[in-house]
Amino acid sequence: MNYDNSPIAAIATAPGRGGIGVVRISGKQIGAVMQAVCGTLQLQPRHATYLPFRQRDGSVIDQGIALYFKAPHSYTGEDVLELQGHGGPVVMQMLLARCIEAGADIGLRLAQPGEFTHRAFLNDKLDLAQAEAVADLIEASTEAAARSASLSLSGAFSETIRALVDKVIHLRMLVEATLDFPEEEIDFLEKSDARGQLARIRDNLDQVFTEASQGALLREGLNVVLAGQPNVGKSSLLNALAGADVAIVTPIAGTTRDKVTETIQMEGIPLNIIDTAGIRDAGDEVERIGIERTWGEVRKADVILHLLDASRGPTLADEDIVRNLPGNVPVLRVWNKIDLSGHKPAIDRMSDATHVYLSAATRDGMALLRAELLKVAGWQQTGESRFLARERHLLALKAAREHLELAADHIGAEHQASDHALDLMAEELRLAQERLNSITGEFTSDDLLGVIFSRFCIGK
Ligand code: GDP
Ligand code: ZN
Repeated sequence: MNYDNSPIAAIATAPGRGGIGVVRISGKQIGAVMQAVCGTLQLQPRHATYLPFRQRDGSVIDQGIALYFKAPHSYTGEDVLELQGHGGPVVMQMLLARCIEAGADIGLRLAQPGEFTHRAFLNDKLDLAQAEAVADLIEASTEAAARSASLSLSGAFSETIRALVDKVIHLRMLVEATLDFPEEEIDFLEKSDARGQLARIRDNLDQVFTEASQGALLREGLNVVLAGQPNVGKSSLLNALAGADVAIVTPIAGTTRDKVTETIQMEGIPLNIIDTAGIRDAGDEVERIGIERTWGEVRKADVILHLLDASRGPTLADEDIVRNLPGNVPVLRVWNKIDLSGHKPAIDRMSDATHVYLSAATRDGMALLRAELLKVAGWQQTGESRFLARERHLLALKAAREHLELAADHIGAEHQASDHALDLMAEELRLAQERLNSITGEFTSDDLLGVIFSRFCIGK
């Protein structure tokens, strides 16, 4: 990605037709565009002005609202002009093209994906975790995910991380000061309660990690493999889990050809279901590749639901299924159709797997399965909003936690730590701080920024 700081323009609203569409322009000297397209240089900041948007020859492209935000009081921190017109793809394209033409002299160009938000980050309008939350809010697939993205966007997550960083810095200063003034060293560890401070920081970090991983779950969802013979009730189970009819249920064996992933919601958590129906018969090349890809997904899954028909008992085909499942993914053996077999709804933890007895049709025992899935996911029913976190944040928290552990090792349990040990401790604290800072984007490499912002859509 090649960012420069020339002014940028893009259609900020979703593609397709809508009541309103917005062209957004950000950068220096955009008055030239304002003058040419809106016919005035006198737009009052943050006031809506209704006016015609004009072509070079004076003809009207559309009538709409022009909004001007003066730097630094704008989304990007630069001068921003927003033109709201009618949300048709053609009229929006015409308006955008007109702006680019009018901005030729100031070097106005099309924005790259995420570039508006990138600028907001560069101009300290948002930190990195907040910028990511913008994308996550736009992409949220459940209400719970949207709520926690919004919480992260407000800066709650970033503030928590900064508070942790402050504590690490405080401890670092103590250690460095002790190294600088050796005569004080004698009971530094005792007097400043360095061990206690370190332990509290670690506890704190663990708590943040728990909350963040809950948020990550809301964002990424739980990857669930659904395995089982035709007609055991896989589609019915999906419907029962989702609480609404999303999958196709058919009484004819082998008619479910849908081995693609589909996402259903369970109590606000996305469940990404990989249906292994059709995984057995590799007909042609295309199918073989599809099957291989599916197996790749299966190996990375969080949990496998192996569905069996309780009224028939296990068959040879089920033994095949079991043999082919990867050993590293936990398996829930789900015995369906207990309304036919006469079993009671139950959960049975056996050495080979956890067995659940239920009926997708009557929904008896479904609550047991739901609770077990939530348990596998590590979900904690707190009823509170969570920070929407990403895998990247969790990795950084984990790494910081490891550095804190090493820091604790260096000062061990002895009464007095050597200079050398304190040196090493200070270094581990520095590394922990660095990893925490990478979450909010202080001292983050340009490569990482490129990766994060390129995942945005254009106009954001
Ligand atoms: P799939 O091929 O594994 O996806 O199975 P389906 O969900 O399409 O179900 C196959 C048949 O079994 C359908 O006629 C369902 O109505 C029926 N079925 C599914 N679950 C149950 C259940 O718990 N009890 C009973 N009696 N029938 C069920
Ligand atoms: Zn099915």
